[in-house]
Amino acid sequence: MELKTQLRTQLLPQGTKRRSGIKMSEVVFFVDHDTGNANSTAQNNVSYFINSANAVSASAHIFIDDKEAIMCIPCLEDPEKAWHVLNEKIKDNELFGGNANDIAIGLELCYFPTDVSRSLQAYENYVEIAAYLSKYHNINPSRRSGHFELDPERRTDPNNALKYIGKTYTDMKNDILMKYRELTSGEEEIPVQESNNISQEVAAWAKDAQAWVTQKAISDGTNPKKFATREELWTMLYRAYQQNKS
Ligand SMILES: [Zn+2]
Repeated sequence: MELKTQLRTQLLPQGTKRRSGIKMSEVVFFVDHDTGNANSTAQNNVSYFINSANAVSASAHIFIDDKEAIMCIPCLEDPEKAWHVLNEKIKDNELFGGNANDIAIGLELCYFPTDVSRSLQAYENYVEIAAYLSKYHNINPSRRSGHFELDPERRTDPNNALKYIGKTYTDMKNDILMKYRELTSGEEEIPVQESNNISQEVAAWAKDAQAWVTQKAISDGTNPKKFATREELWTMLYRAYQQNKS
């Protein structure tokens, strides 16, 4: 497939804090980030990571600006883990059945606040690379989160970048989906509502609670990743309250 964006590889040194070299067991979703560092290019960011490879366990797979995309941790063939969302955050576990660092590819968008056309080109490149990664891994392009959704207390990205080009995160997701359809035109589309690769295994942090609700007959403890209706929630609260009363 012909990409308009120049995609090249400049890997971080392996066996460092930023790049452990540990392979991802599977790729389940994507996390959209921005660099948080206005006017820095993809190369600036990758060079910084290379020069500080042992400083801290923080990284991402790929940086994208108006000129190119640089993959600095493998995320195509034999993808490796990057450290781009705090493990103790639970939203990724709730939405996708695991920690982003274990099962998600992290993409970083570069931005240039005083140069809208440059920022727009970086965005366009980002959208193409994001769609390409979905196609490559055969994952629905809508299976993604902004970093701000997973860690709202600390993070606002990729909205730092999007605000300079008048886009919302919903726009970004739609643009990636449209680009994906363009790249895969004529091929069978992956259903948007697919859920078959969401692990049904109960997350470690929820196991005690699951055992408790089951033992107390507040819930049967099944379908750990399914949403509850208001009726179900009321009933579970009611059962817990009634037991507590007696
Ligand atoms: Zn981020």
